[in-house]
Amino acid sequence: MINNEGQHLQPDVARVRADIEALSTFVDESKTGWTRRPFTVWYDHSRSWLAQRMEEAGLQIRRDAASNLIGLLPGSDASLPPIMIGSHTDTVNGGGRFDGIIGVVAGIEIVRLLQEQQITLKHSLEIVDFTAEEPSEFGISTIGSRGMVGNLPDDMLERTDPDGIKLRDALARQGGKPELLALQARKPSDVALYLELHIEQGPVLEQSGTKLGVVLGIVGIRRFRVTLTGTSNHAGTTPMTMRSDALAGFCEIGLAFERHARQHYAAAAVGTIGRLTNKPNASNVVPGRVVFDLEIRSLDASVSAEIYAGFAEEATRIAHDRGLAIDLEPLSTSAAIQVEPVVRDLLQQACASVASTISLPSGAGHDANQLAAVGPIGMIFVPSRGGRSHCPEEWTDYPDVALGIEALAQAVLSFDLKEKR
Ligand SMILES: [Zn+2]
Repeated sequence: MINNEGQHLQPDVARVRADIEALSTFVDESKTGWTRRPFTVWYDHSRSWLAQRMEEAGLQIRRDAASNLIGLLPGSDASLPPIMIGSHTDTVNGGGRFDGIIGVVAGIEIVRLLQEQQITLKHSLEIVDFTAEEPSEFGISTIGSRGMVGNLPDDMLERTDPDGIKLRDALARQGGKPELLALQARKPSDVALYLELHIEQGPVLEQSGTKLGVVLGIVGIRRFRVTLTGTSNHAGTTPMTMRSDALAGFCEIGLAFERHARQHYAAAAVGTIGRLTNKPNASNVVPGRVVFDLEIRSLDASVSAEIYAGFAEEATRIAHDRGLAIDLEPLSTSAAIQVEPVVRDLLQQACASVASTISLPSGAGHDANQLAAVGPIGMIFVPSRGGRSHCPEEWTDYPDVALGIEALAQAVLSFDLKEKR
């Protein structure tokens, strides 16, 4: 049966709220906030609960090799690759009740609405609760989505947590089959469209009074380590004119970095110095060595490169003027994930038909980063109160979550209708 033209699927706010509240009872109460770490008993129990909700909604459930919990709603045309809706239900330590969780609940709610309206899609629909999206005790994030797309190589599976347990074994204990990862890995064009509803985790929607955000892409991240070396000396006996103070040099260089990051560029960018060590870090010693890490995030790699080049030139000059040695070392580069224009348009139309909408980049990584390897991806953001996330205060009003689900459902229906054979 086909959906009536122009008619929206209306999420049941009370049902969505009940799901989110129920999930928030599966938490490690020895920790602050709503903590549900992967590979724990609380995570196991919450996923069993989630599997029951999926079955009740009419989904065929299974665990894949990476222990992702997948619910399948078959479509009418088995030759088409599936549309996938996913996110995660693990949290950071001291985390909240919405990050990731609303994306999984959204998928289940959309399936219920389709069933109630007796709508059969051409595409199969897969609802996925990805394993361990947040940074884990193994030093790896997005474990489940990595596994699904064949990006969880042996050296990662051999990594151990602080108790000495290998990731390989942790996945197996959680119902995964790490030995089948390569066999089951999805390939490019195995997914027709991957969609994820997520909290913004930033202040832009709230401060602009907007309900929905269409994600333009997920920023790439470049990280560098900078070492400034001067001379440690007695803080009392070394005259101001005879010092090579690495920390004073850092102060000037750090502000120069902020200034470069704040300039106007062809694309938005943010720059942060979040980590610093000062040696010897003693109140009566002129600092001899400062090491700091900086990162630059943007959708546009050329903008990140421009910021870094401008900063590196100025930092080198400042260090030279102050008699400091400077070493600039690249640490890592992750490429930005672009949302294809056709998917942006699809989401823009779906969101605008539901509520006020703007477009914005995602400054944080998501499971969508991994899924981009096997198909087009799209994300919708809903507002985060006070821009806060990864903390107990994390909050999104339930009616706003429902607006996000309605827009997501609309996008699924339009995509399924438009898709040509
Ligand atoms: Zn998340």
